[in-house]
Amino acid sequence: MPPQKAILEQLGGDRVAVSAMVRPGQSPHAYEPTPRQIAALARTDAYVLTGVPFEQAWIGRIRAANPAMRIVDGRAGIELRDYGAHDGGHDHGSNHDEGALDPHVWTSPVLVKRMAVGIHAALVSMDPANEAHYDRRLSAYRKQLDVLDRDIRETLDGLPPASAFMVFHPSWGYFADAYGLRQLPIEREGKEPGARGLAAIIDQAKRENVRVVFVQPQFNARMAEQVARAIDGRVVAVDPLAEDYGDNLRRVASRIAEAIREGEG
Ligand code: ZN
Repeated sequence: MPPQKAILEQLGGDRVAVSAMVRPGQSPHAYEPTPRQIAALARTDAYVLTGVPFEQAWIGRIRAANPAMRIVDGRAGIELRDYGAHDGGHDHGSNHDEGALDPHVWTSPVLVKRMAVGIHAALVSMDPANEAHYDRRLSAYRKQLDVLDRDIRETLDGLPPASAFMVFHPSWGYFADAYGLRQLPIEREGKEPGARGLAAIIDQAKRENVRVVFVQPQFNARMAEQVARAIDGRVVAVDPLAEDYGDNLRRVASRIAEAIREGEG
């Protein structure tokens, strides 16, 4: 996906050609690789797993397209968060489209720093002659991520502890965890709520002084708009899958800080 592509390009530099299966604006939930993408796997040295839903359905065919291709788990060393435990969901359904574990790890630059270490190790083991190049790329990228983390903290500075923001699809849980915020999702366990669930979410939004419901371009905004109308608020789009990884997260932090301050005012 675009953020993982950006991360790999930072770590590989001119030694690695990266292409993303899921391109900007496409949803990793309903995505199906094209025949051309599957064919291109035959010429691919490594596939970095992201753990998003389309991959769970396609991983068998991805492996079969090139059994010699190395599969690198892009989330190695990261403890995945559980949707239900953090987001106030209660029904831990087993037939939920993302599994009960939240795959959106890249929304935390702190976790991307950890992901970078695992991806760096894979690059070095595949191309050991250029270890020094990858070492330089890793340390430069870690510094960039530290600056990004510091900028986000500055943007969010002064918000009350555990401030809440509402989202349609729960993409921002790791971001929320990293910065002491709470994500209130409309979708629970990957599904739109029914009428009762929706009424409960609207009540929660009112209790928490929510003014903004965040949506992302990969999902229909209809239900988010319905919630926004009910609380006399508005819908704002932010994209967890944007290609300009760092600057996008800076923008998202500003939008979230504005939304929380609006609720306080
Ligand atoms: Zn998602």
